[in-house]
Amino acid sequence: MSARTEQSGQRVLIAGAGMAGVQTAVQLRERDWPGTVTLLGAEPHRPYDRPPLSKAVLTGGAGAAAGTGSGTTFDIAFDVDFDALGVELLLGRRATGVRPADRELDTDAGPLPYDHLVLATGAEPVPLPGGGAGAHLLRTLDDAERLRPVLAARQPLVVVGAGWIGAEFATAAREAGCPVTVVEAAGHPLAGVLPPEVAGRLRRWYEEAGAVLLTGRTVTGVRPGGTQPYEAELSDGSALPARAVVAGIGARPATGWLAGSGVALDAFGAVLADDRLRSSVPGVYAVGDCASFPSARYGRRLLVHHWDNALVGPRTVASLLTAGEAETPPYDPVPYFWSEQFGRFVQYAGHHGEGDEPLWRGDPDGPAWSVCWLRGGVLRALLAVGRPRDVAQGRRLIERAAVLDPARASDPAVPLKSAVR
Ligand SMILES: Cc1cc2nc3c(=O)[nH]c(=O)nc-3n(C[C@H](O)[C@H](O)[C@H](O)COP(=O)(O)OP(=O)(O)OC[C@H]3O[C@@H](n4cnc5c(N)ncnc54)[C@H](O)[C@@H]3O)c2cc1C
Repeated sequence: MSARTEQSGQRVLIAGAGMAGVQTAVQLRERDWPGTVTLLGAEPHRPYDRPPLSKAVLTGGAGAAAGTGSGTTFDIAFDVDFDALGVELLLGRRATGVRPADRELDTDAGPLPYDHLVLATGAEPVPLPGGGAGAHLLRTLDDAERLRPVLAARQPLVVVGAGWIGAEFATAAREAGCPVTVVEAAGHPLAGVLPPEVAGRLRRWYEEAGAVLLTGRTVTGVRPGGTQPYEAELSDGSALPARAVVAGIGARPATGWLAGSGVALDAFGAVLADDRLRSSVPGVYAVGDCASFPSARYGRRLLVHHWDNALVGPRTVASLLTAGEAETPPYDPVPYFWSEQFGRFVQYAGHHGEGDEPLWRGDPDGPAWSVCWLRGGVLRALLAVGRPRDVAQGRRLIERAAVLDPARASDPAVPLKSAVR
């Protein structure tokens, strides 16, 4: 029997209908996968794109429902015709376990058989300790729809965490006219991602937008308030009145449901995928926010919670299934991320770590600047504010491990690609 004839009788089941799950289905069909493709998603909505949730959806620019419930079309829904692609969509259905010996996925509406199972259940936000009523998270369309009227009320809000989500939410809330206080445990914004000499520069963005940034403090709980419905209790003993408290304190892989399945997880709970995104269990793969993979480029395992990774990873799995390992290069992308905060377009490419040397391009107090991270002269990562060309060129230079001339690279008037030694 030819490989293709064999494949035509095979079933691919994808658990999780976010960007990574949808792209897996699309990529399989683009590569003429002849078997069945079933996409299972816990949310009732047609699959949709998440980045607008902390941007236009909050202020009413996008995401308005044309109806309600399952089958509703949102303008942030992916522009994919699942029927035309021959992809079976099972929405509002949650995967609850995997039995690899039987090649069956358990769901809240009974088991589903598979030949190949792709795990794409993404990530879930870390809840605020002591949260309760008045505390919000921002991960799903339902979360954003709940927060939209909160912003429209123009009442004081407390944001917990000055990371990517916290900064974007604070931006939207200020745009909507709400007084905003952001409480951050570390000494500066984006502490987990950027070193203090870079992240310290972002403090000013909050001030300019009229948001109060309190660092070195945590929110320890949310209780009913007096002048506002709630009060955020802070670790320094003070309290902030708030119409709502919104937590952006991180996300972890949504893999709890895999307990007991034999699918190996890493220390962060991500599926421990190999360099072609195969899990430890034969016939089971993992893509997007729920999986970590070994990066030869960076000499370590990466867990990437960004949109581009959910877009690109599925190509590896689709290639593996349709064309086989020999035709599928190892998955080792240059990670890429963007954020829109306080009127600025922020982009990051690559991965930097201890020992990488920062090199500035432009005045960090000005409207547009970049920071490159070099190791032994080789470009490893780049953060750009309002300089998209640096990122477009930088990504390609990181990919080919280009060595930069520091004197030329630190001159923002020199295109980055012209600063190669
Ligand atoms: C508010 C917000 C703003 C963002 N903005 C940006 C940005 O500006 N730039 C950027 O690069 N990235 C951004 N991201 C990150 C980006 O959206 C994610 O990296 C991307 O969505 C990951 O896709 P995914 O398919 O792996 O996971 P998800 O998008 O999380 O999708 C997983 C899906 O699986 C479902 N699921 C979970 N468990 C189960 C189960 N047991 N059974 C069935 N289904 C299940 C979930 O309901 C979900 O629909 C943002 C994320 C958020 C939340």
